[in-house]
Amino acid sequence: MRDPARPGDRALVSSPPVAPIDSLTALSAARFAVYVHFPYCLSKCPYCDFASTAAKQVPEARYTKAVLRELAVRGSELGPREVQAIFIGGGTPSLWNPVHVREVLQAIGAQLQLAEGCEVTLEANPGAADEARFSGYRAAGVNRLSIGVQSFQPATLTKLGRGHDGAQARRAVAVAREAGFTNVSMDFIYGVQGQTVDEVRRDAEEAVSLGTEHLSAYALTLDSESLAEDVPLAKQLARGEVQLPADDVVVEMQRTVRDVYRQAGLERYEVSNYSKRGYHSRHNATYWTGGDWLALGVGATGSLSERRYSNQRSAEKYLVDVEAGRLPENSRETLTSLERFEERVAMGLRLTSGLDLEATCRQFVQPYEPRRPLVERMLLEGLAVMDAGRLKLTDAGMDVHSAISARLM
Ligand code: SF4
Repeated sequence: MRDPARPGDRALVSSPPVAPIDSLTALSAARFAVYVHFPYCLSKCPYCDFASTAAKQVPEARYTKAVLRELAVRGSELGPREVQAIFIGGGTPSLWNPVHVREVLQAIGAQLQLAEGCEVTLEANPGAADEARFSGYRAAGVNRLSIGVQSFQPATLTKLGRGHDGAQARRAVAVAREAGFTNVSMDFIYGVQGQTVDEVRRDAEEAVSLGTEHLSAYALTLDSESLAEDVPLAKQLARGEVQLPADDVVVEMQRTVRDVYRQAGLERYEVSNYSKRGYHSRHNATYWTGGDWLALGVGATGSLSERRYSNQRSAEKYLVDVEAGRLPENSRETLTSLERFEERVAMGLRLTSGLDLEATCRQFVQPYEPRRPLVERMLLEGLAVMDAGRLKLTDAGMDVHSAISARLM
């Protein structure tokens, strides 16, 4: 372990604001992030397929110790890397005592070099928002809060099994500001059973009225993987007991969100993400721009060059593995050049800053010529534009992002 008094630690303790940066390309030179997963929640939401577990008593100290042990092992194998962003996600990390969050952040700062103004995000549940707790996170070094609002509408929140209401969500943003957070994000879900386009519009209007720096809005997705994971809502859907809105309605919801956010001055920088200028998520940009990230904790998936690993999704198995001195992995793979190419295309085209497809083909030794006619057709059909060598999807292209990515692979 390095000296805890080195500059990285001071940066965490003084909790600097995240300085806005103008372009995602600023991340291109050296992209490395750390993801820490906190798997515990008060209850399990019926649509959730994250590595999360409902716990009456969260084993906070035991879990913290395990994460620190995992960090010590993985961090020692990394070599010199500068960390641009840390993200504490879950689960419900706002159940984690700030004292433990501080321990984890200090350990990351002691083991790895932190970039100046490193973005440090913690996901917070509106139901667990109080000023002392949020101030504790701020003092621990967290400089960005991501609040899981999902909706302000009582009916939608009930269907999602969320324990908070709209008033608590509004209060969570106010508490975050009182605690000194100048970079706050909110997450929303649309495409919920019984939800209308008008309700989605009202959520979007209320979201922008709160003035946060960043908003994410994702369509509810329940696929075969959700079914395999025994997600209750996916099983109800398969049995025909619930119905999600039709695809064209979901697209209309997505366009409604986009228009409301844009009219409020937010920039769409990724298919599902919007921000004030310079406030895009640096952590997620690491995924979208082909960076590496170290992942720690239950169910976390890390990516170091062509190597991928996933940790145990069961909290108990994770703890037992770490305590026995084993790496808590349940899988590890090395991606082929083609797999990495496909991932880069799919991720890169999610960004409005697009992708230099020819350069990506060269990087991963894939031929560009067979793809050229497809690109030309996309340009003709108005699904994309070519801007200084970068292929950028238009709004129409973003609506069919998955299909376009698949065609280019
Ligand atoms: S709070 Fe989030 S992580 Fe926890 S069960 Fe609900 S959706 Fe899953």
